[in-house]
Amino acid sequence: MDMMHTLQPAPLLDVRDVTLQYKTKAHLVTATYRVNFQVFKSDRYVLLGPSGCGKSTLLKAIGGYLNPTEGEIRLKDKLVCRPGPDRMMVFQEFDQLLPWKTVKENVMFPLLSSGKLKGKAAEEKAMQYIEKVKLDKFANHHPHMLSGGMKQRVAIARGMAMEPDVLLMDEPYAALDALTRRKMQDELLQLWDETHFTVLFVTHSIPEAIKCGSRILLLSPHPGQVKAELASVPRDELDPKAAKELENEIHHMLFSDEVEDKEVQHV
Ligand code: ADP
Ligand code: MG
Repeated sequence: MDMMHTLQPAPLLDVRDVTLQYKTKAHLVTATYRVNFQVFKSDRYVLLGPSGCGKSTLLKAIGGYLNPTEGEIRLKDKLVCRPGPDRMMVFQEFDQLLPWKTVKENVMFPLLSSGKLKGKAAEEKAMQYIEKVKLDKFANHHPHMLSGGMKQRVAIARGMAMEPDVLLMDEPYAALDALTRRKMQDELLQLWDETHFTVLFVTHSIPEAIKCGSRILLLSPHPGQVKAELASVPRDELDPKAAKELENEIHHMLFSDEVEDKEVQHV
């Protein structure tokens, strides 16, 4: 091992020069172009950019559902090429739970089907995380009896119960009303304070990125390219004026004309 290696912690997740494309019958759509970033253990890493800039596509590639056209994605130094229980995903939609299973059964499902835990141990682990998201009273309810926010809490508990290397969250609060959304953001930060899990969080909301993120990657509009990275975001509530200034600064960076790599070709 060389000196640099011993001094610098290895990234948990390493996204290197990742270009992602969709081939449809008529077109080749470039969703992201040569995106680079590294996520370290216990980061609250946020991908921020306007709709259509390829955030979901990037998250799907990290989830292993889509392979890069160019570049590579490594998790703990291993090439990502298929989905795995080391990366759990929480989506925006409220229909990500199995409707015929209870809250507890939904949270147990990946634990059992991955073979990670069996029987009583899976049930205990599920209940532990259901308590963390404050849904223990609803453990035996079915999803249709829950509000949108509660369904998202179940999806978060299900992801966290697997204790993945990284929890991938794709605009999990975007479909919630403003008050519930704020409450859920606070709860996520409380959960993080308890276990310091690593989360990769996608949003198009600048205030949400500032509130939830410890680091923020700014992506340009379609195709998504790295504009800048905010390496450390102050955790404590900024006073309203400072928060507004930071929001304006980020907005300016997101929509300025400069891009890191000018070789972009629109295809
Ligand atoms: P975001 O999540 O940032 O809103 P997406 O990753 O969903 O952006 O989409 C990035 C680009 O890729 C968009 O131009 C979108 O239209 C295109 N796209 C997304 N999914 C597909 C698909 N399955 N087939 C073709 N194009 C797609
Ligand atoms: Mg999206």
